[in-house]
Parts: sequence; C-alpha cells; structure tokens
Amino acid sequence: MRSLREITDLKDKKVLLRVDFDVPVSDEGQIEETFRIKKQKETINYLVERGAKVVMVAHISDKSVDQSFSTLMPQLHILLGCEINFLKTVSDIGVYLENYAGLALLENIRKNIGEKENDSEFALSLSKGFDVYVNNDFAVCHRNHASVSGINKLLPNYAGFVVEEEVASLSRAVNSPKEGKIIIIGGAKAENKIPVIKNFLDKADRVLVGGVVANDILKEKGYDIGSSIVDENSKEFLSDLDLNSPQLIIPKDFNISENKILDIGRETIKDFSEIIKNAKTIIWNGPMGLFEDKRFVEGTRAIAQAVADSDAFKVVGGGDTISAIGKFGLGGKFDFSASSGQVFVSTGGGAMLAFLSGDKLPGLEALEN
Ligand code: ADP
Ligand code: MG
Repeated sequence: MRSLREITDLKDKKVLLRVDFDVPVSDEGQIEETFRIKKQKETINYLVERGAKVVMVAHISDKSVDQSFSTLMPQLHILLGCEINFLKTVSDIGVYLENYAGLALLENIRKNIGEKENDSEFALSLSKGFDVYVNNDFAVCHRNHASVSGINKLLPNYAGFVVEEEVASLSRAVNSPKEGKIIIIGGAKAENKIPVIKNFLDKADRVLVGGVVANDILKEKGYDIGSSIVDENSKEFLSDLDLNSPQLIIPKDFNISENKILDIGRETIKDFSEIIKNAKTIIWNGPMGLFEDKRFVEGTRAIAQAVADSDAFKVVGGGDTISAIGKFGLGGKFDFSASSGQVFVSTGGGAMLAFLSGDKLPGLEALEN
C-alpha cells in the first residue's frame, strides 16, 4: 500500500479521491453525525494545499435526502471549510478537469449501476482525465465496487490518511500480545460478528459477548431465552464456533422485560468491568443491549464507562456503538477527531468487522497491487 505522501509533485495533478460521506441525515435535512466527514479533512487539505485538482467520489445511503448529496452541499462546505463544486454526473467530470481548479464532489456514485457491479466500462469512464486515484474511504473497503477496487487497475493508486490510519490501528490491535488482550462484541448481525469472535478465540485472553449475539449463543447452547430477539441465520455461523471455549464469556444474568433479554444484568456488568479494567488491549464493537430505551441502557453505559476509564490501547467501532458513546457524553474520552495513540475510533462498521475477522478486503487488496 503506497501512501499519498509518496506522490512527489501534486501541483495541477488531477486526483480522483474516494471519500466517506455516508452519514445519517435528519428528516429536516441536517447531517446528524459529522465524525466521518471531519476525518476526511486532513487528506483533502493535503491535496488542495499542494495544488491538486481533486474530484471526490462517495456514496450516501440516507433516504431522507433521497440518497443525494445535492441538498447537503452547504453543510459539507461548512464542515470541510472549503468551497466544493457539485458535479451531477460522471460525464461532467471531463469539462470540470479541463476548465476549473480546486475541489469538486460527484453526486452519489451508487446512482450509477456500474458502481456496485464493479463494471469495467464504468470504471474506465470514471478514470478518464485523472492522473492518480486515492482511496480515503476505509468503511467501504470490504466492497468490491468500481470506485473501491475496480479503478485501481486504471490509475496509479495510493492510500489516503484515513485508510492508512485505520489499517495501522486495527493491525496494531490484532497483532498486540495475546496476554491482556480482550474483545467485546455486542449488537446484532451474526454474519458479521460471529466470524470476529471465531478469529479472536485464540488471539485474545477473553472474548466478551452481549447484545443479540449473546442471545444467539445462549440459544445455541440450549438455554431458554424466551422471546428474545435473535439473528435468524445465526446457526450456520455458530456451527464451527467452540461454544465451550474458556475464553468465551457470555452474560450470566440479564435485564429481562416481556420475556425478552434486553440488556446484560448487574453481575455481568461487574464481571465485564473487572476484565476490562485489567486489559492491556481492548477492542469493542456493539452495544450490550437495547440502549436506545433508557430502561435497557445500563449495560452499554457501564461498558462504555469502563472502556473509557481504562489505560489500555483501545479500538472502538460500529455506528451504534459510536452513537451510544456520544449519548453517554463520553465522546471526549474517545477523542473522535484524532487518534491520540491510545484510543482509536474506527470509521468502519462492516469493514472493521471484516478486517477483524481476518478477511481480505477488496479495497485494501486493490491498493496492494
Ligand atoms: P454497531 O452499529 O455498533 O455495530 P449493531 O448495529 O450490530 O451495532 O447493533 C446495534 C443494535 O442492537 C442496537 O440498535 C441495539 O438496540 C440492538 N440490541 C442490542 N442488544 C439487544 C437486545 N438484547 N435485544 C434487542 N436489540 C438489541
Ligand atoms: Mg449498527
């Protein structure tokens, strides 16, 4: 993976920059989480300050803006602190590169069917007129899409600072000594989370599990979990997980309501907090319960607090996990804006889990070549 810093002369270089602007937007059209966008600043500024002509490509999934960047441009302008021209279609890029300087953003790249299909014709049309490609969107690196892994064959390619920092921090966590290393997995979606548990059973001292994933495991172990929510397809992912591994720590008591497990219980909070306190490396993804409802917030809050108080090297990720931390007023302790060396907040949900599962990520593989 070559760093953006290796491009010797950026003056007038035409740069296709993959960025991460996939943020939630309120019904009133306000961007609700700015962390991902702010993270892009350093790379954008680096390129613009050195005289590069930059066209950014990104996707946005939020339906309240009809999956379009058009109405978000004024907010992006303020958040990034620079003028951004808006390009409606890929065919507008050529004219822009010929006639204008500075920074532009292309409309949601996924509005082109060739993007998700990783169509080579589409990748070719996207690459036209550019000198280099820079990938600064770690969160999409687990996808085999044209602007993520297809474009690399067509342009000299480099990793932006976000991708570099994500890979370095996640690798540091994965490769840190087993002794004192723990991973906490909660939330839902067995298909993404159980492979991480599997990968860490022999790489970590302890794997602590809460949330719906814990329900999946309890059910598989034959416990009566009443009408608790489970992941429907969990059985197939659990089939080759050693459910009796001494490393695997599942909750021993619960906060139950209407016959559903909705949070971890007091004893479990105590046990988990003690393990967290003694850890040297902590990886955390996924809430311990239905934290959106204040009756079931305590487990997640206590875990967030224990992680915040620890001096360990910490890596945290997941959209809901990050929003929980913010809700508890612990954002400052996790320092979302910069990686302070001891704590790293990942922008990748699915991509972080894929990386932690030991999977090869197409977007990173493509940067290697
Ligand atoms: P992240 O985005 O941090 O990776 P997930 O998306 O996997 O987290 O899961 C978060 C969701 O899981 C939250 O909406 C939370 O309410 C829900 N959840 C966690 N535990 C339970 C539970 N016991 N019952 C129902 N929902 C739960
Ligand atoms: Mg989520």
